[in-house]
Amino acid sequence: MTFGDVTRAWLRELPKAELHVHLEGTMSPAAYARIARRNGMPVPKDPGTLFACRDFPTFLAAFVNVVKALQTPEDVAELAGAYLACAARDGVRHVELLFSPATIRSLTPRADLPGMLRAIAEACRAARRVHGVSSLLIIDFVRNLGEQEALADLDLAVACPDCGIAGVGLGGDEARFPATAFVKAFDRAAKLGLHRTAHAGEAAGSESVRAAIEQLQAERIGHGVAAASDESVLGLIAERNVAIDCCLTSNLLTGALPEGARHPLTLFMRRGLIATLSTDDPSFFRTTLLDEYERALRLGLTRDDLIRLACNSFEASFADADAKRAWQTECRAYAEASQRACTSE
Ligand SMILES: [Zn+2]
Repeated sequence: MTFGDVTRAWLRELPKAELHVHLEGTMSPAAYARIARRNGMPVPKDPGTLFACRDFPTFLAAFVNVVKALQTPEDVAELAGAYLACAARDGVRHVELLFSPATIRSLTPRADLPGMLRAIAEACRAARRVHGVSSLLIIDFVRNLGEQEALADLDLAVACPDCGIAGVGLGGDEARFPATAFVKAFDRAAKLGLHRTAHAGEAAGSESVRAAIEQLQAERIGHGVAAASDESVLGLIAERNVAIDCCLTSNLLTGALPEGARHPLTLFMRRGLIATLSTDDPSFFRTTLLDEYERALRLGLTRDDLIRLACNSFEASFADADAKRAWQTECRAYAEASQRACTSE
């Protein structure tokens, strides 16, 4: 497939990071069937039907239902290994995997969560050795399950110091469970030296984005769609250098973006905000990171814009400064080399 001067091969070679992908949401229907059968659960004839969603509430319900299959360290390690191998093939240098222990704790109280975190970390180390792809873990608190569960997640993170946990996030039902209820957990995360991100402005208004930044000290916002209509929140995002993980396909399928509305990615770019692209839950939304870059082109972005998005993805990552610098250098070198190739044609 070609869009002007951008081909799928060019996109694949473009060095990039993915900062917003839920490990649970990478589970394909085939992986679901395999894992569920292994755990003695019934599997429908077409497991793909379990992944269907038409809006945000049906997505959340489908997500929780599918996560019931994840019960052992082997299950989650399998997902991490498979996703990182795919990402590496698509030119992704660094992945930040969101994972929600609280959901598993609520569905499978006897699950070995420290064992799961260690197994994911081992899969991440193996992916680095075999495929050269770097990865970190973000513990994603669940709004619906309350702050006590978030604090329990932090205890778990403290008990697993070698599991590559770089930060905490906040997901779940944004409309009914505001950020205010998680201030203590985010404060404790900051004291532990963990980075902070939060889904906001996806299923609630711009006030939710403001709360994530002001009350939770979020360094990144997941989605942030609602911020586009609030000049003061756009100003706050710029002033604090907060990055926005844009998930174009996800926003269409969950209804985060009103029917027929233009995605605010173009506005974020024009305003010089640190926007990045991610898949969110690739199995539910049937997308890949390369598909997201192509979708951005269809919004009218140029090749230079895509290079900026890729550079942004390294800048906004929670990796250490040396690694970020090296990836950004690689990204700029790729941009210059392809520019030279373009002008000599
Ligand atoms: Zn998400």
